[in-house]
Amino acid sequence: IDREVSKAIKTMLKHYINVNIEVNAIPSNRYMGTIFGEPIEERPHIFRIRWCADYPDANDFLYKGFTEEEFYARLNSNLEVLELFEDVKKQANIDPLTGMYNRRYFFSNGIGMYEIAKKESSDFAVAIIDIDKFKNINDTYGHDTGDIAIQEVAKILDKNIKEDGLVSRMGGEEFCLILSNRNKKEVDTLLNDIRKDFENNSVKPPKCVIEYTVSIGCSFEFKNSLDEMVQAADQGLYDAKENGRNQVRYR
Ligand code: GH3
Ligand code: MG
Ligand code: MG
Repeated sequence: IDREVSKAIKTMLKHYINVNIEVNAIPSNRYMGTIFGEPIEERPHIFRIRWCADYPDANDFLYKGFTEEEFYARLNSNLEVLELFEDVKKQANIDPLTGMYNRRYFFSNGIGMYEIAKKESSDFAVAIIDIDKFKNINDTYGHDTGDIAIQEVAKILDKNIKEDGLVSRMGGEEFCLILSNRNKKEVDTLLNDIRKDFENNSVKPPKCVIEYTVSIGCSFEFKNSLDEMVQAADQGLYDAKENGRNQVRYR
């Protein structure tokens, strides 16, 4: 029966969500087990549902002799909890307008990428992209059209960065990239390709055509922290704006 229980749970969990079940021990009159899901960063405990009676933090258990109905109903409610956590995790890390990673995700994952690259002395760049004169788009065509212009950024970045990178919306019309395993020349080519894609692009929301450029600031040298590299890229962005926009500047 234990093997059967375990197998049934595994099958069911696979059907819903990619998690595993481990039956830990079987006390005299109860089944106990642990359902593991993908942990939420910083709070690895939150996805762990202890399915037993003998742990103080248990939130569920079954007495031996349970009915099939009881077993599946119980599993369903545990799965709903897991799915809810998936939703919460998504909401915490994804920007709803563009579907891109948000600032929170950028820093929580980027720090790890930064540290590994620094340790291995591999190529690592941080770039900030900001839409030029974006306020004009909002003022001329309205906020909804401005939103469409922001969504277009996700498409262009998706097209250009397929691997070895992290793309995020930092807020407003500003986007931050991490580019790994590309030398300075490759980074420069890529950033200018992105810049030119915007330059040559027309966005066609209902009843208007909008065209805009972007300015890009980039930092290629390792600093004391990812945060310092972002700040340097931001200074590069400032230089690009000062110098007339629609260009890539390094710091
Ligand atoms: P610059 O070339 O110097 O970057 O000028 P700019 O007009 O792009 O920069 P500024 O920072 O003055 O304006 C950014 C504007 O972006 C102001 C704000 O109202 C608008 N904005 C921020 N978030 C959103 C959003 O989610 N949707 C829309 N439509 N507008 C946004
Ligand atoms: Mg701007
Ligand atoms: Mg801005």
